Parts: sequence; structure tokens; C-alpha cells
Amino acid sequence: MPRIKIDRDKCCECYLCETTCSLQYSKNIVNPKRSRIVVFFNKPDADIINCDHCEDDPLCIKACLSDALASLAD
Ligand code: SF4
Ligand code: SF4
Repeated sequence: MPRIKIDRDKCCECYLCETTCSLQYSKNIVNPKRSRIVVFFNKPDADIINCDHCEDDPLCIKACLSDALASLAD
């Protein structure tokens, strides 16, 4: 399953990744609570998420203007 790593040193907490995911997969709803990616700023142990919903082309990575998200090879 694809994994996405969050680099918190680069993250500016804009939540564009969560907004984009919500828009795409929750019937055009802008609600980060509906996102599959959640930026847990208070949980440094949660820097990698597993998600295969976008298959090989994760929209959250494209949305991040800070280059804080990256796909990890299996
Ligand atoms: S889009 Fe990038 S910079 Fe913005 S919250 Fe998500 S990971 Fe952080
Ligand atoms: S890979 Fe796609 S479905 Fe998964 S968190 Fe990113 S935008 Fe959302």
C-alpha cells in the first residue's frame, strides 16, 4: 500500500492537502475532517500515513505547495 510521509519542518500548516482530499472524495465538501490525510501536529509519531485511494498519483502531494509530502516506495 502506498505511504505518504509528512515532513513537519517544511509544513506551514495550510491544510491544503486535507482540503483537496475532502473536495475530491467527499462529494465536493470542504471539510478537513473528511480528509483521509490528517496532519497530526501534536503527534510526531504519525508522520506516515497509508492511503491507496489515489493509487499512484496522490492529490494531496500535488496540493502541497511546501513540498512537505512525499510518497514512499514500498
Ligand atoms: S499541504 Fe503541505 S504544508 Fe499544507 S498542511 Fe498539508 S503537508 Fe502541510
Ligand atoms: S492519497 Fe489521495 S485519498 Fe489519500 S490522503 Fe492523499 S489525496 Fe487523500
